[in-house]
Amino acid sequence: MLVPVIGLEIHLQLKTKTKMFCACSAHEAAAPNANVCPVCTGQPGTLPVPNEQAIRFGIRMGLALNCAIAPHSKFDRKHYFYPDLPKAYQISQYDLPIAEKGFVMVGSHRIGITRAHLEEDAAKNLHGADGKTYVDFNRAGTPLIEMVTDPDFASPEEAKAFLQDLRLMARYLGVSDADMEKGQMRCDANVSLREVDDAGNIVGPKFHPKTEIKNINSFRNVERALQFELKRQAELWAAGSPPSVTTTRGWDDATQGTKEQRVKEAEGDYRYFPEPDIPALELAKIAEEERARMPELPAARRARFVDEYGLKADDAKQICEDPALSEFTEQVFSELGEWTKANGGATEKQKAANLVAGWLLSKLGGLLLERNVDVGSMKIDAENFAEFISLLASNKLSSSAGMTVLTEMLETGADPSDVMEAKRLGNIEDASVIAEIVDRVLGNNPEIVERYRAGKKELIQVLVGQVMKETEGAVDAKIARNMLLVKLES
Ligand code: ADP
Ligand code: ZN
Ligand code: MG
Repeated sequence: MLVPVIGLEIHLQLKTKTKMFCACSAHEAAAPNANVCPVCTGQPGTLPVPNEQAIRFGIRMGLALNCAIAPHSKFDRKHYFYPDLPKAYQISQYDLPIAEKGFVMVGSHRIGITRAHLEEDAAKNLHGADGKTYVDFNRAGTPLIEMVTDPDFASPEEAKAFLQDLRLMARYLGVSDADMEKGQMRCDANVSLREVDDAGNIVGPKFHPKTEIKNINSFRNVERALQFELKRQAELWAAGSPPSVTTTRGWDDATQGTKEQRVKEAEGDYRYFPEPDIPALELAKIAEEERARMPELPAARRARFVDEYGLKADDAKQICEDPALSEFTEQVFSELGEWTKANGGATEKQKAANLVAGWLLSKLGGLLLERNVDVGSMKIDAENFAEFISLLASNKLSSSAGMTVLTEMLETGADPSDVMEAKRLGNIEDASVIAEIVDRVLGNNPEIVERYRAGKKELIQVLVGQVMKETEGAVDAKIARNMLLVKLES
């Protein structure tokens, strides 16, 4: 039987203010060639100066991937000739990457991380309608981290799940927005097949020549490109001629297939040597500083939201997909802590957790979508949202009135109790107040009362309706009904 062998190489743009080795802005510019200087355009006699923030971001990413951070590291030159590379070499890292030998869990499958290193990005070639090619150097010299996994993925789906986790990790760490469509995260996927017996033992060589697939620009296409390539290779195996050399193929979105590009150059062709203009990097101290600053990562946070706050696994997953929403949720639960403690026990806690998940994800989520506002910049703060949940949990506020209150909170940033008071939306719980209203309704509807007493029992519904109308729905209908029954039957 043939099984997939898959390894990924991922480039991630680091979200620094300036480029990797010069002071040019690393942000998108309004016009081509606006963010350029003699260093990033490769003028003779210029000297690169490493960006400390980029090194810190790289280390943070390495720590998140459970890598060992190299105490001593350095930069190297990787040579190749292409119009988007003005120096004709790229400053990268060769034998002493900042991080290596890590792992990530995808579900319960451990995926090894071979290494992670820092490098500078190339410029962008733009092919004009006039048949000429133009070069935009804004991207030249912006910082990248390249991460290489071991060939451990067992399926295209697993590779895709890993990339989605990686994106989320980068966002939690604040090192990159990792948007694949914008090219902030780019992935090359390596794939081959290997033969195993029924017990899963490898038959023959452990590794066979692989295909490296380039230009994949979305999660979905990573999965599709791998599926396409696995099928193509399986057909070659079936025909008795499995791939005999490593090749590079490009993913073509239009045809949803891969096309052969070239036979890969050997490493020797790059003429790597140590970058003589940059001193060696001593990373032990800043690695410790970054370790101390590591935030909680998505996987840990998801698990804790379930254990500590009683959220359902699916809800916790959905909340943690958005770092800002997960932060907000954290604050809401910490505000609700006092309330759940004061109101006792596990059932109250569970009730609060269900309310938080429901109101955050579907109700508030919907309102935010309609208004195109995100959690990070909305007017509702965690304290007010927690109070809102506690009002619902203690039945002081009905869920239909809750929607009105929440909408108002979102529009004005107001306190939920203030909104309830101003709009008279609170539930009426005081029995003597309800009794008064019931008496008034009975007094105003003598004819209905008479017909009820004469046997038309279903008219109770009309009276309940009257009570609800009087109070704009602020009385629990069941309580109103019971009180009406008591008065009518006495
Ligand atoms: P190259 O020499 O082509 O750069 P590397 O050994 O550096 O190859 O590995 C590059 C990527 O390819 C890594 O992600 C690795 O896990 C993966 N890889 C290596 N060999 C194979 C193979 N036979 N099948 C699938 N993936 C592989
Ligand atoms: Zn520059
Ligand atoms: Mg390699």
